[in-house]
Amino acid sequence: IYILGIESSCDDTAASVIHNGRILSNVVASQKIHEEYGGVVPELASRAHQQNIIPVVHQAIKKAGISKNQLSAVAFTKGPGLMGSLLVGTSFAKSLSYGLNIPLIDVNHMQGHILAHFIDEDGFDKPPFPFLAMTISGGHTQIVRVDDYFDMKVIGETIDDAVGEAYDKSGKILGLGYPAGPEIDKRAQLGNPKAFKFTKPKVDGLNFSFSGLKTAILYFVQRETKANPNFVEEHLNDICASIQYTIIGILIDKLKLATKQTGIKHIAIGGGVSANSGIRKALKDGEQKFGWTTYIPKFEFTTDNAAMIAIVGYLKFLEGDFANQDVSASARLKI
Ligand code: ATP
Ligand code: FE
Repeated sequence: IYILGIESSCDDTAASVIHNGRILSNVVASQKIHEEYGGVVPELASRAHQQNIIPVVHQAIKKAGISKNQLSAVAFTKGPGLMGSLLVGTSFAKSLSYGLNIPLIDVNHMQGHILAHFIDEDGFDKPPFPFLAMTISGGHTQIVRVDDYFDMKVIGETIDDAVGEAYDKSGKILGLGYPAGPEIDKRAQLGNPKAFKFTKPKVDGLNFSFSGLKTAILYFVQRETKANPNFVEEHLNDICASIQYTIIGILIDKLKLATKQTGIKHIAIGGGVSANSGIRKALKDGEQKFGWTTYIPKFEFTTDNAAMIAIVGYLKFLEGDFANQDVSASARLKI
């Protein structure tokens, strides 16, 4: 079974072909245009998707070494995401499935971030059910109890900013480029995590809050630069390390509570922030400290990609769960 996956929910145009759960190709065209604006500009994103989608899909099929007539189905991201961006992938997938006369499969992007763990990949184990998935990305921060591929329930989530947003907004305050997550991570590894202290938010249960942290960082930077205009420059690595230390502390605290409440000790992470070196290390440490078994995705399956859409497409294909031509994109689609 050959599945073509198409992802266009935000600012990456991506296509991937998988064969019975194994990746044959995974192509991503990242849009550089947003860097100069310090964030994704929806109108520019959808226009760039329109330019990229045909070459990206073409390349994915070519790299897979198959012809489009061999495809068994087309899977696409239905949501959540930016409406204008989603529409490009949705309409393209619909026409392709119509033209090739093959099934169409709609995919929830967040399920994709979670089910990316079921891509067949040497050296990577698949989590056994039930497991806890923590999705940490640019738009989401959730803890999801996963009882089966399509039996999942959000048991905790952010009440304001997502963790990726916390990284990107902190980076903006520090004058770093967009997205700032990867650079903060890189600098964090060179700095002292205990140099500066930021208080963790107090949120009951399994929910998260990150907007207070952003404000705390803003006030901290304003105060310190008043005394020393070069403060940020001189202490950048230490600031980044301290921010990262605080964020990881928040995530690990909630995971500890979630494992306690559910009795589930298999933990998988997904979403762009799972590329973060600090969270990866903290999870691994949790295996020793708390008896967890952790599942950390291969780097290329952390930020937005179409392989995760294709694997969900494959799992849905096996269940005969197809979409009709009248399916539409849904910006606020829930798990
Ligand atoms: P969603 O999946 O919620 O719709 P999204 O698709 O925009 O949001 P992803 O592509 O999954 O988000 O993740 C992008 C986010 O990941 C950005 O906020 C980016 O800063 C962050 N990120 C990427 N790499 C790292 C890293 N090494 N450390 C911290 N954050 C990172
Ligand atoms: Fe994403």
